Amino acid sequence: MYLKKLEIYGFKSFADKIEIDFKKGITGIVGPNGSGKSNIIDAVRWVLGEQSAKTLRGSKMEDVIFNGTSHRRPLGMAEVSLSFDNSDKLLPIDYSEVTITRRIYRSGESEYLINKTPCRLKDIKELLMDTGIGIDGYSLIGQGQIDSILSSKTEDRRQIFEEAAGIVKYKARKAEAEKK
Ligand code: ATP
Ligand code: MG
Repeated sequence: MYLKKLEIYGFKSFADKIEIDFKKGITGIVGPNGSGKSNIIDAVRWVLGEQSAKTLRGSKMEDVIFNGTSHRRPLGMAEVSLSFDNSDKLLPIDYSEVTITRRIYRSGESEYLINKTPCRLKDIKELLMDTGIGIDGYSLIGQGQIDSILSSKTEDRRQIFEEAAGIVKYKARKAEAEKK
């Protein structure tokens, strides 16, 4: 499984729809200061279900919607889609390509979709659990996070190994069953 494509529309500085094809061999994104490199990573975090506006460098969730420039009006919604090649069926879903989408409107209303079908955030989280990709996985390592991993408590560090071992799903189900 690998990241195939990222589509961004109306998210932060991307007023026009952009599409990034992660062809084989791409290892980095470069550009001048303020050109939107970090906004691309923010878009990935956001579509994976990030709920903290602060982590996305804003103060409220609507801050992710393009808020206009001196010659362009703000937009009313933002949409990000992330596509994975799933021909090895690592994601437990019967599709060889999986696209997850998140939308937010200025009204605060938001939606999530898997392959264009509306779903809950919980469904996206479950789909990505134990793959390392989800928002709590280890595929996105933020600035300063390496330090915190190295200096974290053993129980916190254990979580990274549990995700890699693929048992987070079962622990989550057990916790849910115990609540009932
Ligand atoms: P650096 O090299 O300094 O880290 P960068 O390429 O990572 O830069 P970003 O932080 O991704 O740059 O982009 C910052 C730009 O995004 C700023 O110009 C900011 O005004 C713009 N921006 C952020 N949120 C929005 C928004 N909601 N609407 C419009 N523009 C936005
Ligand atoms: Mg940056």
